[in-house]
Amino acid sequence: MITREITEKLGKHQTPFYYYDLDILRETLSVASREAAGRGFHVHYAVKANFNPVIMKIIAKQGFGADCVSGNEVEHAIACGFPVSETVFAGVGKSDTEIEKALRLGIKCFNAESAEELNVIDSIAGRMGKKAPVALRINPNVQAHTIKPITTGTDENKFGIRLPDLDNVLDRLKELQNLRYRGIHFHIGSQITDLNVYRNLCTRINELWQWLTGRGFGPEDINVGGGLGVSYNDPDRIPPFADYFNIFSTSLDSRIRSTISFELGRSLTANCGSLVSRVLFVKPGALETFVILDAGMTELIRPALYHARHSIKNLTSTGPVKKYTVVGPVCETTDTFGRNIQLPETRRGDLIVIRSAGAYGEVMASRYNMRSLPAALFSDSL
Ligand SMILES: *Cc1c(COP(=O)(O)O)cnc(C)c1O
Repeated sequence: MITREITEKLGKHQTPFYYYDLDILRETLSVASREAAGRGFHVHYAVKANFNPVIMKIIAKQGFGADCVSGNEVEHAIACGFPVSETVFAGVGKSDTEIEKALRLGIKCFNAESAEELNVIDSIAGRMGKKAPVALRINPNVQAHTIKPITTGTDENKFGIRLPDLDNVLDRLKELQNLRYRGIHFHIGSQITDLNVYRNLCTRINELWQWLTGRGFGPEDINVGGGLGVSYNDPDRIPPFADYFNIFSTSLDSRIRSTISFELGRSLTANCGSLVSRVLFVKPGALETFVILDAGMTELIRPALYHARHSIKNLTSTGPVKKYTVVGPVCETTDTFGRNIQLPETRRGDLIVIRSAGAYGEVMASRYNMRSLPAALFSDSL
C-alpha cells in the first residue's frame, strides 16, 4: 500500500526511481522462510531477480542461500553476506574465468548443464588442484504452462541435460576424477501460477530419483528450482508459499532422504518494488489518449519483452476515471506499459506508480537512448 503520507514523500524526489517497501520484503521473506522450514526445505534466493545490495543484505540476513547465474553474481552474493557454503552457480554458459572464480571462492555447487561443461569444470578443477562439487541440471520436459519466453524445462529449450542424454552424462561423470557429484537440479520456468505443474515435476523427480539411485547416483541434494508466480493484478497479495511447498512435501516420494532446496526469485522480491514516474505529457491520439511517462522500457522492460501487465495507479489525481494508453519516452513502439488502463483523469506532473516491479525490473534497466539508470529509494530511509 502506498499511503498519502508516502506519496507526499515520494513526490519530493526526482523521477523516475524505484521505491522498495522493505516491510513488504521482510514479511514476504518471513512467510516463505517459515513455510519452507516447517517442511524441512531450504530456500536459495535467485539473485538475478534483484541484485540491489540493500535487498540482498536483508535476504541474506533471513538465512537464505544464493542461486547465481554469473561469476559476478557469485562474488556479489558473498559480498552481501550470503554464506559461500550456501551459494550455487547455475547457467547454461559459464565461462572459464567464472568457473575459476567460483572454484577459488569455494561455492557449494556448480549446476552443470552438459557433458562438455562437466569436462571443462573437471579440467579447470584439476589444474587448480581442487575437487569441484557438481549437480546435474536436468531438463525434465515438463510443461510449465507459463508464457513461452520464460519456459525453460521442455525439449525445445537450451537449458539442462535432456533425459535421453542422461545415461551418457553419468558414464562421463564416473570418469572425471576432479568432480564430486552432489545431486540433481531442475528449473522449469518462471511466473508459474498453475501449481499442478509442480505436481508433474515431482512425478518426474520421483522417477528419476529411483532410476539414479539404482544406477549408483543417489542424490545428496535435490534442487527443484523456482518459478512460483505472483499476482500482477493484486500486487499486495503474498504469493501462495504454503500451497506451493505443500505440493512438494506431499508429492515427493517419502523415501527420498536428500536435502530439498528451492530457488525463488520473483516470488520473494516482486511485490516490494514499485517504479515511480511522473507524467510528462497527455497526448490525444487517433484512437486513444496517450499518457507519456518519464519512465519507460529502460527502467522496466517486462511489458516490452514479454507483454507483462503490471498494475498502474495514479497517486495524485482524484478526477473522473478515463481510459489511457500508458507509454514511456523511449523511441520504440513496444515501449508501452499498457492499453485501456483506467486511471483518474491524468495530467502533466501527476505521480504514477507501476507495481510488482521488484523482480526483473531494476536489474534489467538499460541505458538505451543514453538514459540515466534509475535511482532506488527505500521505505526505511524515505
Ligand atoms: C531465474 C532462475 C530462478 C528463479 O526464477 P523465479 O521465477 O524468479 O523464481 C531459479 N533458478 C534458476 C536456475 C534460474 O535461472
